[in-house]
Amino acid sequence: MSVKGNLENIQKKVNEACERVNRSPDEITIIAVTKYVTIERTEEAIAAGLINVGENRTDEMLRKYEQINDKANWHFVGTLQSRKVREVVNKVAAIHSLDRVSVAKQINSRSEKTLDCFIQVNVSGEASKHGLSPEEVIPFIKQLEPYEKVRVVGLMTMAPHVEDEEVLRNNFRKLATLRDEVKREKLSYAPCEYLSMGMSNDFEIAIEEGATHIRIGSDLVGTQ
Ligand SMILES: *Cc1c(COP(=O)(O)O)cnc(C)c1O
Repeated sequence: MSVKGNLENIQKKVNEACERVNRSPDEITIIAVTKYVTIERTEEAIAAGLINVGENRTDEMLRKYEQINDKANWHFVGTLQSRKVREVVNKVAAIHSLDRVSVAKQINSRSEKTLDCFIQVNVSGEASKHGLSPEEVIPFIKQLEPYEKVRVVGLMTMAPHVEDEEVLRNNFRKLATLRDEVKREKLSYAPCEYLSMGMSNDFEIAIEEGATHIRIGSDLVGTQ
């Protein structure tokens, strides 16, 4: 299937999900997660209008970036090690996985400008998942104050791999509630307007629960 065809299907579902909850599709940024696919397929996605692309490994992102560069806005969605920050920080539009002060410190010393960051939250508490527990989020954000180049634009989560709609919905709802709590802190460096949540399996539910950034790989660009 062409990316263009897949995008039409996804956009239709995005529009319908928005309609169900009285939101505007303009509020939703679709990030094409290209981690499984080739440079050619990534370029096809960009040509189809998907200028926001996501990668979860630094080496793979850099490989693609060398070819594609500023034709796309790069979103780093995977775990970022402190020692790798330097390699990507001035190439990305946003980092979706901030959950360690050591990484914030590296961003602050290596970035040429303020960088949009999402705090990754492990809402479900699964041991296999990265991210902070919900209780840790506000204390963590308060620790980021000295790092002037880190701007906390939102929260990110990966829902558990389950079919149960209520479980998924609950996860997303908890992240939205937490986002509201962060906003109420009124920290100048943490406007925290956004919710990066929803993947191929669950983006419609995520949108119904307030997602502003959905990260879609397999159903949009495929897995090979
Ligand atoms: C792979 C990945 C996605 C996309 O997952 P799909 O199920 O293929 O849509 C989204 N977010 C993150 C962090 C990922 O690693």
